[in-house]
Amino acid sequence: MSSFLKTVGLLTLPASVVLLFFMTGNLNFFSVLCVFLLITLGLALVELGDLMERVSALESRLDPPPEKPEEDDIQKVVCPNCHKKYDLDSPKCPYCGTKNELW
Ligand SMILES: [Zn+2]
Repeated sequence: MSSFLKTVGLLTLPASVVLLFFMTGNLNFFSVLCVFLLITLGLALVELGDLMERVSALESRLDPPPEKPEEDDIQKVVCPNCHKKYDLDSPKCPYCGTKNELW
């Protein structure tokens, strides 16, 4: 959407210059006003597109990083003997057989 606005805005500028060239034959207040408005519109569109790009870039930066899968450390106990982690509901360490003191 923002790039579309920018493209249209950038196209409006040369278009208004071309229009001005065609109008040089019979310049009057309204044709000058028309070209002036067209240039203003083009610049506004470019600015708007730029602004939207910046806002979306800012938004993506503000977005929280995707949530990590929940660590299941809470459900584990560290063996006092071999220091390996194993399930809290296991009565003894599956690696060395040391009794689970929290069980
Ligand atoms: Zn162990």
